[in-house]
Amino acid sequence: MSKRYGCGGGLLAVGLALGLARAAAAADVPPDPLARDIFKQLIEINTTLSVGDTTAAATAMARRLREGGFSEADVQVVVGPNPRRGNVVARLHGSGAHRPMLIIGHLDVVEARREDWNTDPFVFTEKDGYFYGRGTQDMKDADAIAVAALIRMKQEAYVPDRDIILALTADEEGGINNGVDWLLRNRRDLVDAEFAINPDAGGVDSDAGRALTFNLEATEKLYADYRLTATNPGGHSSLPKPDNAIYHVADALGRLERSPFPSEINPVTRAWLEYMAGVEAGPRARDIRAVLRTPPDAAAIARLSQDARYNSTLRTTCVATRLEAGHANNALPQRATANVNCRILPGHSPEEVRQDLIRIFHDPRVAVAWIDPATDQPQDVAPSTKALTPPPPRPDLMRALKEVAGTLWPGVPIVPVMETGASDSIYTMVAGIPSYGFSGTAIDRDDVRAHGQDERLRVRSFDEGAVFYYRFLKALTGPPR
Ligand SMILES: [Zn+2]
Repeated sequence: MSKRYGCGGGLLAVGLALGLARAAAAADVPPDPLARDIFKQLIEINTTLSVGDTTAAATAMARRLREGGFSEADVQVVVGPNPRRGNVVARLHGSGAHRPMLIIGHLDVVEARREDWNTDPFVFTEKDGYFYGRGTQDMKDADAIAVAALIRMKQEAYVPDRDIILALTADEEGGINNGVDWLLRNRRDLVDAEFAINPDAGGVDSDAGRALTFNLEATEKLYADYRLTATNPGGHSSLPKPDNAIYHVADALGRLERSPFPSEINPVTRAWLEYMAGVEAGPRARDIRAVLRTPPDAAAIARLSQDARYNSTLRTTCVATRLEAGHANNALPQRATANVNCRILPGHSPEEVRQDLIRIFHDPRVAVAWIDPATDQPQDVAPSTKALTPPPPRPDLMRALKEVAGTLWPGVPIVPVMETGASDSIYTMVAGIPSYGFSGTAIDRDDVRAHGQDERLRVRSFDEGAVFYYRFLKALTGPPR
């Protein structure tokens, strides 16, 4: 869901000038026939929520891994309550010097209609230097690359310094059978890890195929919807009373508009702001530096918050997104409801934000419920779980990233970012597993087609991504150099 929609995507508008100066042509990489073949197979298995089947894709990947040398016990197709929404978990055994690492990738794709596309979205098509098909950007490219990398390491009899677990899962894009959530709740033994990597977020942003930045998603905001409700006996509109359900909800929303959440900087947003201070110029750069000081400059925070992207980086945001009220033009409203959508900073829980909203609205006539995404039903109390405040990115991971990215995209900066959308990493983070989002497949900043029509990925970008992931995993888990 989140691919290329977060801080990472946004910073390119300003990063471009710098990037053009720094961009370097990538070294030529050879195609990986196995990765391409798996990619084709995955694209051609429809995994949409409406008619698709992630169990079929999971089973196909399990077969590939077993043919590649994995034992039956080390590759498991795991199906939860819905037989069409299954997952696969594979384990490459390491020396046990460190606790396991986990790679997650979603198998499901967003709906795609043949009549909207120039090619069949479920036929893998190579055309004009691109691979076309639903899931070529989001994220069957990375799924195929991970499966191919694991098979290659298995066939080399490579022993990493920790187990490498790969979980390919259902219902990231929609549906109620999210595989990562389900595995963490029901089969934690299969996926428990010291940290996780999710290629659904972050990654290489490019311009006409030239890499600009390598975005390392190191934390994410938590998504939450709240429903405000005011009820009233109503009556005839010719006899208005001061007690009016619409006014109560409207007043509450007005107070919300005037009450931004306090600003807060964590190690990841600090690193991103430090990077942006070097990219921006003039008063904007001065404001960023003033915000980074201890204590931060309140006037600079206010100025920076005028920009939606900086604002969403600096604080939890809650915004009115829907409104519904009344039942007749000539009747006093018996009911008014609004939806408020929040994106919560790590370190805070949905229940904490619900209490904040109640305090901001300051009106007992307005009830505030949390919407359970699994059922779409309002709940009186929200969960108290929160994503961990992120630690600074792991040194071993940064070292391996710098080493491998530096050979494929010399001079391209690695920028830690906080995704302001949401991906499956939020489940691993809430479960206490620090999670990092990046892929090695570069996507042009003006060619983001995830969820859209004619989704495509540059052939060279796929080949680079395959080389990147394989080399990265070995640099991360190989003997120290
Ligand atoms: Zn995705």
